Amino acid sequence: MAKSVNEVRKDVIGRKVVITAVRGSRPHDLPVCPRAQKITPPEKCFFCPGNENLTPPEIERIEKGGKWEIRCFPNKFPAFSAESRKAYGRHEIIVETPEHQKSLSELSEENLYDYLSMIKRRMEAAAADPKLAYTIAFKNEGKEAGASLEHSHSQVVSMDFVPDYVKKLAKKAGKVASAKKKPMKNVFAQNAHFFAMCPKAPRYHFETWIAPKEDANSLVALSDEQLRALASILKSVLTAFDAATGFGPYNIIFHSAPHAGGAFPFHLEVASRASTWAGFELGTEVVMVSELPEVSAKVLGGKLAEIKDKNAIS
Ligand SMILES: [Zn+2]
Repeated sequence: MAKSVNEVRKDVIGRKVVITAVRGSRPHDLPVCPRAQKITPPEKCFFCPGNENLTPPEIERIEKGGKWEIRCFPNKFPAFSAESRKAYGRHEIIVETPEHQKSLSELSEENLYDYLSMIKRRMEAAAADPKLAYTIAFKNEGKEAGASLEHSHSQVVSMDFVPDYVKKLAKKAGKVASAKKKPMKNVFAQNAHFFAMCPKAPRYHFETWIAPKEDANSLVALSDEQLRALASILKSVLTAFDAATGFGPYNIIFHSAPHAGGAFPFHLEVASRASTWAGFELGTEVVMVSELPEVSAKVLGGKLAEIKDKNAIS
């Protein structure tokens, strides 16, 4: 008979989650639907090639063979802007690929390196403005994860204050650094500079942290070699996510130190958004998660091994 293994755990900043896994059942088997096709016709997509005139003036692009591969421009409807007196900042869009149907996981490691380099440059540019205090980069994949346009893109948002959550994470930098010195649990991928693991108190299904092996407080602190290693492990993690969820919705969050610097547990968080926060979460700020992270790490690692086997055979 299935046995419940409900357990309350605390995350790195002390937030509680209750894991409601049932041993013997297979809660990680989310309904994997056939991959949904993106339905906006390219001529009507603001981010497709040929429609560049529909976006605000471009800030930067990466071209290969005379065609753009990645573009960056200000958000047409910014949350923060240089013109705003009460919400000063920047809000930029990075279109990750000219191909309307492509997902981030399907880009080459070289393209992912270019993508990460562009985010790094935009963060550096924001940090040069003394009025700005903090920059976050993130990606919303799929409507359930908050994407309002289906063509694959990310956002870089800068503000003149440091959010409370970021301050709390900064305070725990020492705790995270000492945890990394012990053998890490639930690691399902790693390379010379990064590991990918499922934290012990996740707030989202398949929550994964991609964290540097050496101390680094921000994306902007990474060397070129580290950036390439990050591109490589990001490709593995997203490939595992897409295989496990059938190209389901997810967020990527680049957690970096404030512009003022200091110790900070820099990491990328990747979180599936296949389940929704409901009354319990909204009423208690405690999150219910239906799978142990120990199981999530096995599922994601298993998907990576399957893909490697398949590639070895073909
Ligand atoms: Zn498009």
